[in-house]
Amino acid sequence: MKTIKHIKELQEHLSFARKTGKSIGLIPTMGALHEGHLSLIKAAARDNDFLVVTIFVNPTQFNNKEDLKRYPRNFDSDLTILSDYPVDIVFTPSEAEMYPSEEKRQFDLSPIDTVMEGKFRSGHFAGVAEIVSKLFEISTPDNAYFGLKDFQQLAIIRKMAKILNMNFNIIGCPIIREKNGLAMSSRNQLLTGEQQAAAPLIYKTLLKSKELKNSLSLSEISAFVKEQIDRHPLMQLEYFEIVDDVSLMPVTSWESPANKIGCIAVQLDEIRLIDNIYFD
Ligand code: AMP
Repeated sequence: MKTIKHIKELQEHLSFARKTGKSIGLIPTMGALHEGHLSLIKAAARDNDFLVVTIFVNPTQFNNKEDLKRYPRNFDSDLTILSDYPVDIVFTPSEAEMYPSEEKRQFDLSPIDTVMEGKFRSGHFAGVAEIVSKLFEISTPDNAYFGLKDFQQLAIIRKMAKILNMNFNIIGCPIIREKNGLAMSSRNQLLTGEQQAAAPLIYKTLLKSKELKNSLSLSEISAFVKEQIDRHPLMQLEYFEIVDDVSLMPVTSWESPANKIGCIAVQLDEIRLIDNIYFD
């Protein structure tokens, strides 16, 4: 496993791998690795001969400066974890390497960047599309891996890749959870003990709302979720929406033929957690 900081060196290695007939799998991350990230690496290892994991805490996708400052950075332990996996390259560029000029690249991501996360994290998806498009262009992988935990992010990335006529495979991988159901997230390590004890209520509520789908209307389900979360003294619901998994637009009736996914964001003091569940 080689740690590389510069694009040129990364591309030299990739071009050699390609010349020797190897398929390339890309796994973009912001580090502070957990089992969720590792599941992407395991999936990539099954499908590819050569794996590139990127670790870059991308400033342009943080709409909140404090969130960026406190985002966990465990670089040394990340490298130790990765050394147990068949990773060929860990790409850890600097900000200057990824953003050599002030100019922004922008994509028309509407309407999927205007709902849910888009409403509450202005500019977040523009930053995600910007950095992932650069990583895609730099590495031109055969397959790129993302978690379904960030469901809307995956939709944004697919849209950006389509705009750029990128035809490689973008693969969505299942959500990995703690034993108590909490979706794994680098931000979980920022939770206090009390918040950690409270956070599994998010997934519990999603599961319960799915159980209730035959007896409640869509709006009653939404009210149920709000009530369950908001009555907990440490939690506040930011949004819960049941949307079409392709258009990401709200579903208005259970009879709709769309595949329905319930997406949630919850605030625990300064920390914001997201999760989702398929209703079908
Ligand atoms: P991040 O480091 O948070 O930017 O995440 C890097 C990648 O890991 C993204 O594609 C995430 O969707 C994915 N990921 C994060 N948490 C999980 C999880 N609990 N299960 C599956 N994938 C995840």
